[in-house]
Amino acid sequence: MDVKEFVRDIPDFPKPGILFKDITPLLANHKALVYCADQLAAFCPADTTVDKVIGIEARGFIIGTMIAERLGAGFVPVRKKGKLPYKVKSKSYGLEYGEDTLEMHEDAIQPGERVLIHDDVLATGGTAAAVCQLVKEAGGIIVQCNFIMELDFLKGREKLESDIVALLQY
Ligand code: 5GP
Repeated sequence: MDVKEFVRDIPDFPKPGILFKDITPLLANHKALVYCADQLAAFCPADTTVDKVIGIEARGFIIGTMIAERLGAGFVPVRKKGKLPYKVKSKSYGLEYGEDTLEMHEDAIQPGERVLIHDDVLATGGTAAAVCQLVKEAGGIIVQCNFIMELDFLKGREKLESDIVALLQY
């Protein structure tokens, strides 16, 4: 399946000069959605145990949950500042367009747990790098950083250490 058919370019969103990759057509198509989740789950080697899949707010929640279901893992949301109800660990990070803070519940990852991090897009890598730090500080082991797409020209993978996979490259 050519998943790129379901990714729409939106010029100047959310700011002038940004060409935003819109995945909502992919999410809206059942076959594309299931294919994407199947492929991304299959990037995780069959003999690898995953205890938790982290999905990054907000688009990472959608297919992240589907990957967790396929891998027999639990799901952990990492959210923007102030959204999680319990005690959190925080990490600030630089974004392609601005700066933000991400939070994870302090008991979401236990020491020694094996974690797959999922998001829709790897751009500059600041977001995923911040989440990797949250996982490491919690004592988790990062098994894979897993994305629907990688914007190669932004060189985000240079900020990450673990196994990095993406279904689509731009
Ligand atoms: P980074 O921190 O790697 O620069 O940016 C990645 C984060 O920004 C991801 O959480 C992703 O959802 C969002 N993002 C950046 N650019 C795009 C884009 O073109 N399309 C989508 N869907 N998300 C983007």
